[in-house]
Amino acid sequence: MSPADVNKEHPLDTKAPRLSVKKPETRYDKQGDMPDSERIEIAMRSFVRDFGAHAATYMESCIHCGMCAEACHYYVQTGDPKYTPIWKLEPFKQAYKREMGPFSFFYRTFNLKPKVTVQELEKWQELIYDSCTVCGRCTLICPMGIDIATLVSQARHGMFQAGLVPHELWAVAERAEREGSPLGATPKVFKDRIEWLADDHEIEIPVDREQADVLVSMSSIEIMKYPDAIVATARVLNALGEKWTIRLDGYEATNFGLLSGNAQWQKDMSMKIINAAVKCGARLLILPECGHAYGALRWSGANMYGKPLPFKVLHISEFLAENLNSGKLKVKPVGKSVTYHDPCQISRRGGATRAGRDVLKALGVELREMNPHGDLNWCCGGGGGVVTIHRADDLRYKVFEIKMKQVNDTGAETLVMSCSNCRQTFDDGQAHFKWDKTANSLLEMVADNLVE
Ligand code: SF4
Ligand code: SF4
Repeated sequence: MSPADVNKEHPLDTKAPRLSVKKPETRYDKQGDMPDSERIEIAMRSFVRDFGAHAATYMESCIHCGMCAEACHYYVQTGDPKYTPIWKLEPFKQAYKREMGPFSFFYRTFNLKPKVTVQELEKWQELIYDSCTVCGRCTLICPMGIDIATLVSQARHGMFQAGLVPHELWAVAERAEREGSPLGATPKVFKDRIEWLADDHEIEIPVDREQADVLVSMSSIEIMKYPDAIVATARVLNALGEKWTIRLDGYEATNFGLLSGNAQWQKDMSMKIINAAVKCGARLLILPECGHAYGALRWSGANMYGKPLPFKVLHISEFLAENLNSGKLKVKPVGKSVTYHDPCQISRRGGATRAGRDVLKALGVELREMNPHGDLNWCCGGGGGVVTIHRADDLRYKVFEIKMKQVNDTGAETLVMSCSNCRQTFDDGQAHFKWDKTANSLLEMVADNLVE
């Protein structure tokens, strides 16, 4: 099957008809028709380059305690040792030791670390993509501070260059690069949608202002699946009297370049938003309810730009918390018990663990925390691009059982989160398990209870 044959129309829509795909144990995806020797060469070059001294020190410091296994939802739910986080990096460790490490000469001479084969890398595709949401729970738990999640992301660079990416993830990343959006939310589609929403909800949604203090970005999941998020954002910003805009030359905050492992595509997506913010003179860029968008812009944006960003970057939950805490934004109390799902890339990886809770406090809800919660919260299982990979569905549902138990145990009436990727993973899990809990947006809860 070629990447072009993949269901490009709705690659992220978990309700769309599924492709008939082979089981993971027999299906490994390849892009392009380069010979295996070339794939290996390219992948190894990338691993060795990315796994510099820093990463090598990480790898060498592993004391094989196994704590990362217990931290990973894939291992916990299956008991399969192949899902031990540090094991997911084995081929890359092997490549580094053989090619670059201090004893590389001996490793090569006595073949102590044999050359990684393309068949091994094909098998590792499942470990690097299907069974890692880059949630960073292993990173947090590791007593040696080995940042396994970041190393998995780096390993994806080599896999991408070698054309060894799961097809669906490759397809959404390629479509985002080609059309500007992984879900077909092109500037024209987005503009039409904004006009329709503005009309329907009788609300002002400014587009393409030449000068604005605040630039708002959106994820295509929100544009295509949860458009109420656009209206909710407009309500909040209008209530605050901000001079804000959406710009059609830079709005798509999802970043499948980052998730698939294509650093150039990652940069291309980020630079569109950065350039749009610079052009309109924004002092603040607001990122939508999308976890990996936060990682891509908040924590990697300056690297892409090559210097410090000339504007502040906030996730929408941080923006809400700031304005609710200062009293600029006012909401009426919600008389409900609520549990909050921490999106991994916002809380654990992003550091904005408190923002969602500040917002819920302002909303006056009875917060019933999951166990564990905050930085230790369990991942929904759909991050890191995993939700796009249909052959990984069974495994994804298996790890989602942890989330359902966590939520059910709280006994809360309402489930809230601040990531549309998590939200669609929950929606899909709800449909699959016929679960009685619905995922709600934190932003929409604020907008619905604004005192205007
Ligand atoms: S927790 Fe850290 S030190 Fe322990 S096995 Fe995993 S990577 Fe190695
Ligand atoms: S980042 Fe998350 S999913 Fe990936 S290996 Fe670590 S704990 Fe498992």
